[in-house]
Amino acid sequence: MSSFRETVLEIDLNAVTHNFKVLKSKLQPETKILAVVKAFAYGSDAQVIAKHLQGLEIDYFAVAYVKEGIALREAGITKPILVLHCQPINFPLIIEHCLEPSLYSERILKEFITIADQKKQTDYPVHIKFNTGLNRLGFAVGTVNLISSYLKQTTSIRVASIFSHLAASEDDNEKPFTLKQIEDFKIASTNLRSLLDYKPFLHLCNTSGILNFPQAHFDMVRSGIGIYGFGNDNKFNSWFQPISTLKTCISQIHYLKAGDSLGYNRAYIANKETVTATLPIGHADGIHRSLGKGKGYVMINNKRAAIIGNVCMDMIMVDVTDIDCAEGDEVIIFDKTNSANLLAEKAESISYELITSISQRVKRTFI
Ligand code: PLP
Repeated sequence: MSSFRETVLEIDLNAVTHNFKVLKSKLQPETKILAVVKAFAYGSDAQVIAKHLQGLEIDYFAVAYVKEGIALREAGITKPILVLHCQPINFPLIIEHCLEPSLYSERILKEFITIADQKKQTDYPVHIKFNTGLNRLGFAVGTVNLISSYLKQTTSIRVASIFSHLAASEDDNEKPFTLKQIEDFKIASTNLRSLLDYKPFLHLCNTSGILNFPQAHFDMVRSGIGIYGFGNDNKFNSWFQPISTLKTCISQIHYLKAGDSLGYNRAYIANKETVTATLPIGHADGIHRSLGKGKGYVMINNKRAAIIGNVCMDMIMVDVTDIDCAEGDEVIIFDKTNSANLLAEKAESISYELITSISQRVKRTFI
């Protein structure tokens, strides 16, 4: 049988368990954990990851869009699912699939109450989001009375939680800003809570917030990147295990003479005899074009092979002049070391973007 392999993203569910336990160990026993499984669980596989986490007694899930929440429900996820970014057009679907909307503006709150009334809901769980400085989504912290006036006029919805999102929790230089966000969130959420005759739970921290601001864990924390194995900081990275390995194989080896060009736009011209390997993975699979022209590299037989020339849609070419390798040999793009972070740096990007860019045509396998 041929030794040729396809390009695969191999996902280690034991690493997910490990990361979940690391996060749990940083919390008070009663603090809930929400797993952020948007964007295909950061490029892995939302359904498999969510099922696995459901088995580990995760408390909540969050997705960005309604479609992602519906896919989880269809895969048998029964835990509560917070939908972070809703539009009124999706509200009937939210209710139909028992998803829980983040209500982030007066317009969205009003529209959701209207739909919940039309659908004859009582106490439908919703989550009120405050903007404490990210300036992306959320009610201004000064709108507590406005929010409570809407809530007091309806029995169709009930606030399950009040939350906000940190802008720079990984950045020591921004600590004063984060502390101000924490303070503003504490004031706005406790004020709103005091105007209700029940007690929604509070949450603020993402992974870096969990690790850097233990005083701000409130009732629940929301982790994405930590679950997938990155601590967002050299001091924390070693606690976590990256869950995925992206690997492929050598399709063909070419021998270039000095002066020969390689690939589109003839972006690489050999200045000496050069051996190149062509790999079946390209920018349509998630290899950023910025990794071409010698910026990025892959690992072949434990040696670095620079990506040379332009990254093509379905292929990259790497320099294997000094590497003992053959067609069919395995190639590691990133693995369970910190290599996704290092490769992301070469692309002037971050691990989040690199891992979520692995396209759906790359087969996912699980160990
Ligand atoms: N909470 C919200 C509202 C988010 O948008 C995200 C991710 O972007 C997270 C939590 C998780 O963040 P992280 O992956 O840094 O843990």
